[in-house]
Amino acid sequence: MTVAILGAGLLGSCTALELAERGVAVHLFERNAEALHEASYWNEGKLHLGFVYANDPSQKTTLQMLEGAFSFAASLSRWIDSSALEAMLSDPFDYIVYRDSMLSVPEVERHFDFVSDRIRERQAQGGSYPGYRDGALYQPMARADIAERYNPDAVLGAYRTVERAIDGWAVAAVLRQALANHPRIEFITGARVIAVEDSAGEQFTVVYDADGPQRQGPYESVVNALWANRLLIDNARGLRPGRPWLNRFKLGVNYRVDPKSLRVPTMTLMLGPFGDVVHFPTGRVYISWYPAGLIGMSGQLEEIDWSKILSTVDVERVRVESEQVLSGICPQVAQLADATSEPPLANGGAIFAWGKSDIDDPDSVLHQRYEVGVHSHGRYHTVDTGKYTLAPMFAQDAANRIQPAARSMAAGAV
Ligand SMILES: Cc1cc2nc3c(=O)[nH]c(=O)nc-3n(C[C@H](O)[C@H](O)[C@H](O)COP(=O)(O)OP(=O)(O)OC[C@H]3O[C@@H](n4cnc5c(N)ncnc54)[C@H](O)[C@@H]3O)c2cc1C
Repeated sequence: MTVAILGAGLLGSCTALELAERGVAVHLFERNAEALHEASYWNEGKLHLGFVYANDPSQKTTLQMLEGAFSFAASLSRWIDSSALEAMLSDPFDYIVYRDSMLSVPEVERHFDFVSDRIRERQAQGGSYPGYRDGALYQPMARADIAERYNPDAVLGAYRTVERAIDGWAVAAVLRQALANHPRIEFITGARVIAVEDSAGEQFTVVYDADGPQRQGPYESVVNALWANRLLIDNARGLRPGRPWLNRFKLGVNYRVDPKSLRVPTMTLMLGPFGDVVHFPTGRVYISWYPAGLIGMSGQLEEIDWSKILSTVDVERVRVESEQVLSGICPQVAQLADATSEPPLANGGAIFAWGKSDIDDPDSVLHQRYEVGVHSHGRYHTVDTGKYTLAPMFAQDAANRIQPAARSMAAGAV
């Protein structure tokens, strides 16, 4: 059996590795020259425990994120050396209730209590969250601690949490190597997928552009892991989304700073269209200020070419504005531009989500991110990754639908 996987982001790459480990031949199609080149590279890498999803009254987003976060390391360690992951983790996040927050401090604390209870339950069922063993899951910071790290006038309340981010650049490096080393994965780069057609014997043909139109197949199964362009290909097969969606295009700014000379607090501002700062032990610092970094939105069925979008943006303006606003909240951010050993790099990607209004609308569906995952139409599988946090878990789900682990284990392939 040969399976076609469309898109080599975190989802497509992990699905390819999982299927290949189960003995399946995989053709992985990607328009770029390397894997993990778009959203799965330029994101913040937060392994969401659900703290930030305080505005989903159903709490289903928190539950969904917890599942992904608790299986993230275990899933990745099926394909790469898991002992390397610990060194890729950021400091734990401070959560700052910003002065313009949509939710009050008591509302945030109620949500944090809910998250903590669910984490405890999840721990009792087994699995682990990267970097966390035991101890308080969140703790309020004293006003004196707040004043040491932040501008107290901007902060209504602050909490130390156990949530962390993982350096997606380091993850990408090891996954690219794993893809290159796997004998059952054929990586077809520079291939812009245009359509998936049915072919004889209930199989599929992938139609793509690579310096001219190409066709390849037949494939027994297809996994559509195209993220921002996923609906376009689904739609051409008659799979209509039937509800509004948004692709938001968001930039963050990256620096390279020696953590021994400057240690910027890792923090998230909540709740609203605000921002984050993440300092990875690898020396990479990521900052994002949403109003500056959000450079566009689309709810249309059109092909999204990230490199074209980026070429129209004044990235220097994004950097300057993000630094200015964030340093007013976290003064150490002002030192990044001088401390960085490499020029600051503003880049990002698309964020696909159901909904039609942005996150500054308290009623926006964008606060609810649980209706995601693998949808199968026969042997055509289309996956809404939802979040980086969830990709390894959904990769295993997609693989299970194509080649259940038990079957391949019986055949001695795992
Ligand atoms: C700025 C930013 C910050 C984020 N922060 C976080 C965070 O902190 N935590 C978190 O959990 N999530 C975060 N996310 C979301 C997360 O990045 C995505 O959910 C995740 O990376 C999606 O993975 P993917 O593999 O589905 O998509 P991608 O990584 O985008 O992979 C899709 C692949 O398909 C390829 N492709 C697209 N169209 C075609 C085509 N027609 N033909 C061939 N190839 C094609 C693309 O080149 C790409 O390689 C963030 C996203 C952004 C943009």
